[in-house]
Amino acid sequence: MKYFPLIGACVVALCSTGCLDMSIPDVTVEESASCRAGYKSIVLADGESCPADETCELLDEDLGLWCMKIKIAEGGDGLNCPAGSITVSPSQQEYCVLDENREPNDDQFLCTEGNVSGRYCREVPAESEASSVVVLEGQRCTASQMTPPANTLRIHVIDVGQGDAIWIQTPTQQNILIDGGDGGAFGKTSAGPIIADYLEFHDFPRGSAFDAVFLSHPHSDHYGGLPNLFASYNLKNYIDPMELDTGENVSSSYKSWISMVRGKLDESHLYMPAQEKFAPGEKMPADFFGPDVSATFLTSNKEIGKGSSANPNDASIIFRIDYAGRSFLFTGDATSEQEGIVVAQSPDLLPVNFLKVCHHGSTTSSSPVFLESIWPESIPRDDRGAFISSGRAQYSGAYLPNETIVSRLKTFINDDMLFATSAGDENKSESDAYRDDNILIVIDGAGNYYACYSGTN
Ligand SMILES: [Zn+2]
Repeated sequence: MKYFPLIGACVVALCSTGCLDMSIPDVTVEESASCRAGYKSIVLADGESCPADETCELLDEDLGLWCMKIKIAEGGDGLNCPAGSITVSPSQQEYCVLDENREPNDDQFLCTEGNVSGRYCREVPAESEASSVVVLEGQRCTASQMTPPANTLRIHVIDVGQGDAIWIQTPTQQNILIDGGDGGAFGKTSAGPIIADYLEFHDFPRGSAFDAVFLSHPHSDHYGGLPNLFASYNLKNYIDPMELDTGENVSSSYKSWISMVRGKLDESHLYMPAQEKFAPGEKMPADFFGPDVSATFLTSNKEIGKGSSANPNDASIIFRIDYAGRSFLFTGDATSEQEGIVVAQSPDLLPVNFLKVCHHGSTTSSSPVFLESIWPESIPRDDRGAFISSGRAQYSGAYLPNETIVSRLKTFINDDMLFATSAGDENKSESDAYRDDNILIVIDGAGNYYACYSGTN
């Protein structure tokens, strides 16, 4: 019965896209001749198990195993994908996505045919992806740049593969985390240990406490690594776009994470949903970032992360920080729709020096009107920078960052101030495209700054 919540969450989400209204069955986990060594099969209460032509994949240590259909198509419409989704990987296995450029999550990877045992479809990277090379020209840190003084603002975009994980150290020694990468299910990178290793390498050892932890939005490539990380770290404040008791359209693993947070913090330190805790333009509490760094909330929208037509990306918390005359905007996976809301609602808060590019550099985001609002003429071109957190996961056959977005960003900023955690990973697979492209941005008390790749951890 431990698998019950996962199946329930998937069924609810899929039915919102038009599939059959299925009841939730009891399941057990058993050895199966159709599963390879070390794997088991999920079996429905009525005795149905994986068909002979399916294998089983370990999704997650906690979530267990799932049947997986061997490749049956070379691309185009997937025979086992729900209406409106496609299969995009002409390799060994079928890969289903609901919408072009929509990132995978727990719900979107389960494709059913009116049978809850369903088909688990996952991407297998093709052998050569040379056509998607994106050249980024940011520099490697020098030895002295790697060890900035403690009285500076330091922003680390940690290379967790596909996902986001950003660590901010303030001049007064507050530590803030935005997102925690993926949890490792569906063949993705398990970010928790990667983040912890990075933090320890930079003298923030296990057992330490973050002053504030932000979850930009409830997608697994942002919250998935947090449970593992916070098994060995602590936190003092937590900010999340959704409700305290989330019901709709979020996965069971997200709910488990919220339960974990609630076990660590009392409600006075839970800022959920963020939009009810902060008004657009409101300063966030000084105990998040300390007295010298100003943090301003711009927007978040719990409603567009919920319901049958929900896009949780647009629940993303968008906020800025300011220090010594420099500014940095954090955006989660906001799409052009939410970008447009911010442009209309808070145009005076948008011009910044530095941008965490929305949604891993996907074409869903970084609209021209948004970038024009981020970097008007009042922000000198030499004082602009863009930072992309991306891995080697395919979306509708394309890797991120998208070349169109990279080109668009380069019309606003100098080439050497565009960084991505996937730089140089063009010929790697998702399974080895992390840890090697961490990005460090340092701002001192006089407003001097630099950005560089801070090496492998
Ligand atoms: Zn994401």
